[in-house]
Amino acid sequence: MSKLNGIKLRHDKGTKDCETTEFPLPKSVVVPMSQHMGAPCGCIVQKGDTVTVGQKIGDTNAFMSAPIHSPVSGTVTDITDFLLSNGASCKAVHITSDGHQTVCPDITPPEITDRQSLIAAVRESGLTGLGGAGFPTHIKLNYDTVKTPVDTLVINGAECEPYITSDYREMMESPTDIIEGILLVQKHLGIPLCKICIEDNKPEAIKLLQSKTEDMNSIDVVPLKSSYPQGAEKVIVYSATGRIVAEGELPVHQGTMVMNISTVASIYRYSRTGMPLVRRRITLAGDAVTKNAGNYFVPIGTRVSELLEFCGASEAKKVLYGGPMMGICLYDTDQPIIKNNNAVLAFKEGKMPETTACIRCGKCVRTCPLNLMPLAIESAYKAKDIEELKRLKVMLCMNCGCCSYACPAHRPLAEINQLAKALISGK
Ligand code: SF4
Ligand code: SF4
Repeated sequence: MSKLNGIKLRHDKGTKDCETTEFPLPKSVVVPMSQHMGAPCGCIVQKGDTVTVGQKIGDTNAFMSAPIHSPVSGTVTDITDFLLSNGASCKAVHITSDGHQTVCPDITPPEITDRQSLIAAVRESGLTGLGGAGFPTHIKLNYDTVKTPVDTLVINGAECEPYITSDYREMMESPTDIIEGILLVQKHLGIPLCKICIEDNKPEAIKLLQSKTEDMNSIDVVPLKSSYPQGAEKVIVYSATGRIVAEGELPVHQGTMVMNISTVASIYRYSRTGMPLVRRRITLAGDAVTKNAGNYFVPIGTRVSELLEFCGASEAKKVLYGGPMMGICLYDTDQPIIKNNNAVLAFKEGKMPETTACIRCGKCVRTCPLNLMPLAIESAYKAKDIEELKRLKVMLCMNCGCCSYACPAHRPLAEINQLAKALISGK
């Protein structure tokens, strides 16, 4: 990564001034037991059980996982096999709400006194990265402090995808939660410096966080050039510190840890309340939205179809979990909101433009932030040439979609890269 490539996108952040409000409580929710990177949870409730808000309903002993909690109080009406939007399947707990939102009597703020108790508390909170990747947060905090000591905490407030404003609203509505969360992590993990990175298309958020941290030597607010994909992990580490996370490395190998800005605020809120992750802030937007575009606290497990009805977009031709660049197109709007969703976008147009032959213009190479060669990867994938795909370092691809966006022939380059990665991994 000798220079930062990428693309300029329209921001379309029309919901940026919409203060977050509560989404109407759904009559029922469907809570999948896999909402994060890693192993799915096993159900620890049964059909007919009564549950309360924040009660643990799924857990596992697997290393890479996070527990799952009930977002509503009510009755477990079914436990079924469930096909997720990414094609994987798992069990799902169906709960009918009693409308009372009775809080689980076990909810109590955790005692956090050191690194291990912080990590244990974050695991119990069920927190996973709220920026989209869904990496269990306690695993991220549990790095090896001897082999990979971290000197810089990079807080990702870039929110570089168009339309999405949920992190922006976190910054504008809860700056104190963000700062207290950062101080908690810095204190117990012994990280001396924090850089809060925000794209320069959010001047109010930059100003607000600068004013809240002006007396703090350990926290800097770093305005970043507004460019997609500024919020990608490797890109933001480079932009914030000038360090390059090489192939096969994690940010901790370069002395950095990256956390999404809403994730770090959630750590603080859990430390104060003990209420696990049972709802999240969702941006509701897109050109098919005819009313109620905005930001909402939505219980995990709420069906997307309910959000679409609420915003007058039931007839949308294309519905996305997340942004237009990296979001997942839903095949079924009865899919529920899960922990790593930050937006539901609804569009009038669902047709993809026709693909034509490659004209070898090189735009896909010039826009790739990692200097990969998507046109060559496409040829190698078609030839099923695994050695060549490895040589072209396709495993580095972060699926940002810049190459597909830039391609005048509308070739599905980012999608092919995902297939090529699966081919190498033998999936
Ligand atoms: S999707 Fe992959 S190959 Fe395409 S621009 Fe992004 S990182 Fe590069
Ligand atoms: S951008 Fe598209 S047309 Fe241009 S070289 Fe890449 S694949 Fe070919």
